[in-house]
Amino acid sequence: MKKFLSMFMVAAMAISLAACGSSSSSSTDESDTSSSEETASTSDVTYIIATDTVFAPFEFTDENNDFVGIDVDILAAVAEDQGFDYQLQSLGFDAAVASLESGQSDAVIAGMSITEERQEKYDFSDAYYDSYVCMAVAEDSTITGYEDLEGLTVAAKTGTQGADCAESLKDEYGFTVQYFDESSLMYQDVITGNSAACFEDQPVMAYGITQGNGLKILTEEQDDYSTPYGFAVLKDNNTELLEMFNTGLANIIENGTYDEIVAKYTDAE
Ligand code: GLN
Repeated sequence: MKKFLSMFMVAAMAISLAACGSSSSSSTDESDTSSSEETASTSDVTYIIATDTVFAPFEFTDENNDFVGIDVDILAAVAEDQGFDYQLQSLGFDAAVASLESGQSDAVIAGMSITEERQEKYDFSDAYYDSYVCMAVAEDSTITGYEDLEGLTVAAKTGTQGADCAESLKDEYGFTVQYFDESSLMYQDVITGNSAACFEDQPVMAYGITQGNGLKILTEEQDDYSTPYGFAVLKDNNTELLEMFNTGLANIIENGTYDEIVAKYTDAE
């Protein structure tokens, strides 16, 4: 287990490193993590933007070992359109949000749902993708609904809406919630049978199923957990970056780049 963990950390570091250096049109090449002060002009700033590790099709490492996805490409297109430099750090969802909160990063783009609760702490961009929560089980599972989860364990990812959804149901249906930091580890726990089900964003689960993750969607929570994704900054912070993101997003929607990006990751795999 220890060996697995350290191998995993090496892989995670490699991903983070691979994710770095995606700056555009840089005049000062090295990133300076302390340069994101209000006083600096846009052209001198390399924004640190945090994201998830494995959240396909929004961010993931492809077969060529490139860190790719809808979020990754949208950010690149917006930065190019608006002429700002950035460094993308692949940290995991909860870690990305924590780094935003502690000021270690300037923004998060990680399939992050624009919830009312989060809007008290963060300013979000305009919505760029619709999503809602679903529950999935192993393909061959005999579970047919929440009623079958009594006394069982269900997997959720720390800090996510899926976790909120699981927490809101656990008392009524008598299941326990087991937490993971990565979606892939959560799915694995369901495949091995430790967890009977997992809660995940529907577009991510649907994509995973087309990639053969061995799971199937059982329930969909569209009433209380339909929330689109947005790019987040700390409240009243990095206003300039947020404005650039919104303007750039509108431009790439207008010029067709946005549709091309989404189609690239979601059309007939
Ligand atoms: N959309 C979910 C949330 O914001 C999950 C995001 C993620 O796991 N990257 O909570």
